[in-house]
Amino acid sequence: MYEIREYNKVAGCDHRGRVLGCRRALVGQCQYCARGFCDRHGERFGEREEVCKRPSCQAKRLDLVAHLAFRATAVIRNGESCCGQPGCEAEPGQDCERCRAHYCVVHLQEEMTTLATYGARGIEVLRLCDHCVERMEIWAQK
Ligand SMILES: [Zn+2]
Ligand SMILES: [Zn+2]
Ligand SMILES: [Zn+2]
Ligand SMILES: [Zn+2]
Repeated sequence: MYEIREYNKVAGCDHRGRVLGCRRALVGQCQYCARGFCDRHGERFGEREEVCKRPSCQAKRLDLVAHLAFRATAVIRNGESCCGQPGCEAEPGQDCERCRAHYCVVHLQEEMTTLATYGARGIEVLRLCDHCVERMEIWAQK
């Protein structure tokens, strides 16, 4: 199985200092922003995860870890016929279009989002849980 990455391979670290860009040798390429990084400006860990040191990319990485934990809890709560939102005892209704867990009417909202899909940008209305609404802000950062 080959993994096809959507970006072109880069030649060197893309970190921009205050005056000069970093010229150290490339050790990886960020899976979120596709910038190359050296051993100082990014990290590789887990199974082929490569994330640069830019705050928005680090936020995405941390968010993903938190999200998977949140989602696992929400799915267990749904199995007990509770809304996915921790602490809410209401009956679960529709599912969130992002995490696919089910929530009560209070904890689901319609959000206007601008999403880049297959190269085209468009406005889309998504049905999202509170948790996923917060995540959209993080993921909207370049
Ligand atoms: Zn990055
Ligand atoms: Zn660097
Ligand atoms: Zn959600
Ligand atoms: Zn709820």
